[in-house]
Amino acid sequence: MVNLDDLYREILLDHYRRPRNRGPLETANASAEGSNPLCGDEITLELQLDDDGRIADVAFTGDGCSISQASSSLMTEYVRGRKSDEATSAIDAFQAMMIEGEEAPEELGDIGALAGVRKFPMRVKCASLAWKTLELALAQHDRHDDATRATVTTDERSTSNG
Ligand code: ZN
Repeated sequence: MVNLDDLYREILLDHYRRPRNRGPLETANASAEGSNPLCGDEITLELQLDDDGRIADVAFTGDGCSISQASSSLMTEYVRGRKSDEATSAIDAFQAMMIEGEEAPEELGDIGALAGVRKFPMRVKCASLAWKTLELALAQHDRHDDATRATVTTDERSTSNG
């Protein structure tokens, strides 16, 4: 784990060691796969969306560094039981926090711990992977595109890594 403030570190380590919503989801009706080749992080995200657009259940599998795994756990814990448009708002708030450096929004709760990763530009991709994959899974469901799996990559070599 990178050198984070103690509070951030505690939260992320807890989610890394005891990931929430980890495993396959038999009832899934949307899914996406994401990878961050720069670090070797991989995630498969599965969602069960009900007819009202609520994320009734969510689970992830995959391997990667502690930050990517902790972020996946935090993200699934947050969106489980929420409407997909709330999840989309959370994705936007997360991106604003990580990419644009905005203050961690209070409603994101422990997810704000990931703001500590901003000091390490390479690791921002690790933290963002779960959220980009969520965005893709929701888009896939909106298209009623049940048969295919989408792949997102956070490998953006052209961007500055400080
Ligand atoms: Zn990583």
